[in-house]
Amino acid sequence: MKLKRQNLFVVFLIVILLPLGWLTGAVLHGWPGAASMIVFSGIIALLLYRRLRRDEAAQVESLDDLREVQRIARLGNWRHDLCRNQLQWSEEMFRILEVDPGQRPASARAYLAVTHPDDREMLRAAYAQSLTPGHPYEITHRLQFADGRIKYVLSRGETRFADDGTPLVARGTLQDVTEHHLAQEALLLHGNIFQHSGEAIMITDHDNRIIDINPAFVRQTGYSREQVVGENPRMLASGRTPPETYAALWTALQNEGYWQGELWDCHRNGRIYPKWTTISVIRDKYGSITHFIASFNDISERKATEERIERLAHHDSLTGLFNRYNLEIRLSQALLTARREKHFLAVLFIDLDHFKVINDTLGHAIGDQLLVEVARRLQGCVRESDIVARQGGDEFVVVINTLDSPAVASLVAAKILHALSQPYDISNNRLHTSPSIGIAIFPGDGEDAETLMKNADAAMYHAKGQGRNNLQYFTAELNAAASERLLLERELREALKQNQLELHYQPQFAADADDFVRPQAVEALVRWRHPQRGLVPPGRFIPVAEESGLIEAIGNWVLDEAGRQLAEWKRAGIGPRRVAVNISVHQLRNGGLVERVGNILKNHHLAHDELELEITESAAMSNPASAIEQLEALRHLGVTLAIDDFGTGYSSLAYLKRLPIQILKLDQTFVRDIETDENDAAISAATLALAHSLGLKVVAEGIETEGQSRFLRAHGCDLLQGYLYGRPEPAATLAARWHGDGRAGLAPPVQNQI
Ligand code: C2E
Ligand code: MG
Ligand code: MG
Repeated sequence: MKLKRQNLFVVFLIVILLPLGWLTGAVLHGWPGAASMIVFSGIIALLLYRRLRRDEAAQVESLDDLREVQRIARLGNWRHDLCRNQLQWSEEMFRILEVDPGQRPASARAYLAVTHPDDREMLRAAYAQSLTPGHPYEITHRLQFADGRIKYVLSRGETRFADDGTPLVARGTLQDVTEHHLAQEALLLHGNIFQHSGEAIMITDHDNRIIDINPAFVRQTGYSREQVVGENPRMLASGRTPPETYAALWTALQNEGYWQGELWDCHRNGRIYPKWTTISVIRDKYGSITHFIASFNDISERKATEERIERLAHHDSLTGLFNRYNLEIRLSQALLTARREKHFLAVLFIDLDHFKVINDTLGHAIGDQLLVEVARRLQGCVRESDIVARQGGDEFVVVINTLDSPAVASLVAAKILHALSQPYDISNNRLHTSPSIGIAIFPGDGEDAETLMKNADAAMYHAKGQGRNNLQYFTAELNAAASERLLLERELREALKQNQLELHYQPQFAADADDFVRPQAVEALVRWRHPQRGLVPPGRFIPVAEESGLIEAIGNWVLDEAGRQLAEWKRAGIGPRRVAVNISVHQLRNGGLVERVGNILKNHHLAHDELELEITESAAMSNPASAIEQLEALRHLGVTLAIDDFGTGYSSLAYLKRLPIQILKLDQTFVRDIETDENDAAISAATLALAHSLGLKVVAEGIETEGQSRFLRAHGCDLLQGYLYGRPEPAATLAARWHGDGRAGLAPPVQNQI
């Protein structure tokens, strides 16, 4: 339109200027003047024409430029002549709004038609506002096209006003900012993820200096943003992560740009914790590293839970050693290796001597601490590759792998023997225990885990039988003994049914008695008259009876038979005033004992003090609280209570005072060497003094010589028992003697069948 106007102007110049030049020349100088003026005017007209053509070209060019620039910038513009209500859109404006200029002219309606329905009101309001002075607008809104596509546009507009405030022209731009907006949104989203992620995130630059962290990082590490920005992440390290891990991390980052694994860091408060870490390398388009992004999670809790589950499944919760289940697995594995590599392997079965006493007297807490310490010492005695397990209670198993010779096992066992026998200082108590160790060697003593364990166990029992605190190898004899035990148990059951048990009685004489024929009391001692084996002493079968539970029935029979026998003697007008019966720990534990004793007294019409019950010191100590309760109930019945084998256990004076007993039986191990061993003499004398101070009577067991008897009597011993005065004998033999003439003096030692 403008160009046309300029063309008209040029025509006007030529049409007006030339005649005007001619007219002016003619008026002033006649024809020559007119001609020269025409030439002059022509030149000027030509110059003007050329100038105009140049301007026109430049204008066309700049309009082209404007169009291109608008296209490149995706920036269109519009102009609303408010006086004439004419709206113009630039080409780019049409393109952005995707309106075909040939089909539809620029109009507010066309614009609003593609504006997202939710944004139309905002756009309308912004434009309406801009028609009042001082309210240009700038809003971002959406366009929505028929196919559902969305564009984000930045719309700006402002209005020019006349001096009186009348709006004249509104102008504005429309810019397609979709890409920018989406990038912005993504950035915002990423920022939100960074801020709100539960994982700690740390961004470092190419020199591995921290440039940003998120709030989870602060929570996890205890460090604030200010404290870490600019620092090397090394500041978080605890020193516990193996250097190889870091080496592998950097290699992986260099080669693959990515690493994942476990690192151990140190919290600002000093707590060392494991974290699961992922690190990625960020490179620019030239391949240079620009950043590292590390995200990590504190996994201490997860790890602790996993470890706990693992330990519960495979470890003994008290000592942390392998448990029975894991021992089986590991022993089987070790056996496979031993078989393949053709070397020996040793299974050591270890049982603590007198642990039960410690546990029962000092309490489980102390007992537990002792076991923990034992476990620690055991581990100190073996190589890392060996297996140390707790089998349960006070039983431990050590498996020594890769033995060059079976003899080496005894070196390790001796080391264990020594280590476990050292005193234990636990909660202000100095405790002593020692191990009994049984050793079975692969392949000689067994080829499989089960056999080796069984045989090591048998060897351990043998070690206990040998006086504890020693080690024993499994031997063929032991094997035989183990089978023998089984046989004995079977036969013992039969013996009860077949009435093969009988009682022998050993007399106890008052120290000041003038008649060593009729005893004050007798101790009933059980024997088993075996059809083939002959008379079996209790030491052989009582332990089997205790292990198999047969002791209950045997004990009941003994009580009843002893009661019956005393009643018979009484009826015959002979016999002792009292019969003493040995009570096993199992009977004591069983609640029925009190009632049974009561019944026996009643059934046999015995006075209550005619029955004495002997409880070994260790039985009384095995569960002191319950023992006291039981003994109290028995005492209530009026029966006499004696502590048997006194001196072999761990009774404390305080404990002894609480037991409702009347008699102490000084063990024969003290009596035996009373004349030769100063210690034994001193202990015996002290026991006698102690017992008397507690108001107890003392029976000395196992007196074989006059010298022993003299010593004991000199120290006030109340009752004497031993071969010197009479071996255990069948009731009939004793009755015969008592029926005799009642000679005074010492009864000659009677040879018994034992
Ligand atoms: P105990 O109760 O300490 O009995 C004393 C043991 O010493 C008896 O052995 C007896 O024969 C033995 N003895 C007595 N005087 C002498 C002596 O001068 N020299 C030597 N060397 N030994 C002597 P026995 O009869 O073999 O009994 C052994 C243990 O068996 C008993 O020790 C007792 O603990 C247990 N026992 C015996 N009968 C029964 C019973 O009916 N029930 C229970 N639960 N245990 C019993
Ligand atoms: Mg006894
Ligand atoms: Mg005894």
